[in-house]
Amino acid sequence: MKLMLHDLRGRPEGMAVRGRASVDDVARRDCSLVAVEPVDVELRASEVSGMYVVEGTLRTRAAYRCSRCLTEFWEPLETTFKERFVRAPWHDDGVAEDDEPVPLDGDEVDLVPYVEQAVVLALPWRPLCRPQCAGLCPECGANLNKGPCGCSDKATDPRWEKLGELWKGISGSSGGSG
Ligand SMILES: [Zn+2]
Ligand SMILES: [Zn+2]
Repeated sequence: MKLMLHDLRGRPEGMAVRGRASVDDVARRDCSLVAVEPVDVELRASEVSGMYVVEGTLRTRAAYRCSRCLTEFWEPLETTFKERFVRAPWHDDGVAEDDEPVPLDGDEVDLVPYVEQAVVLALPWRPLCRPQCAGLCPECGANLNKGPCGCSDKATDPRWEKLGELWKGISGSSGGSG
């Protein structure tokens, strides 16, 4: 998925960038992510006073491993994309911004790494197969979403042990000087 900057010249309305990007590397980096389908990329690229702005939407489906019950599940993933590029060398006027434009050496930009980055940022921190996932039984490892396993019947209420510690009053008054 390549963008040629010279294609944008003389096109104030910009141009559409569409396609499918394979982002398999993302799944290799994130352990709770099992797989990602190729991403449907719908972007618009335009040149605004020497800066190349690429923005739009990314859509795909991702398979996660639930952080509570470890079940794998698929879910749609949709996120916005926005990246700005400039031709190197880029002289900024000392305006420090968090999202500074990416300086480019050539005329060609491969958008796939930026798509990957946007997908990574859109991943849930701790994926859950459902908001109320019951997780696994700590005793027998059964998936509690499929029903009670019976362990909880046997379990006794955790009792707080008495804080019956003996306090030793150390009366070591041996500081006799003089
Ligand atoms: Zn779950
Ligand atoms: Zn159990």
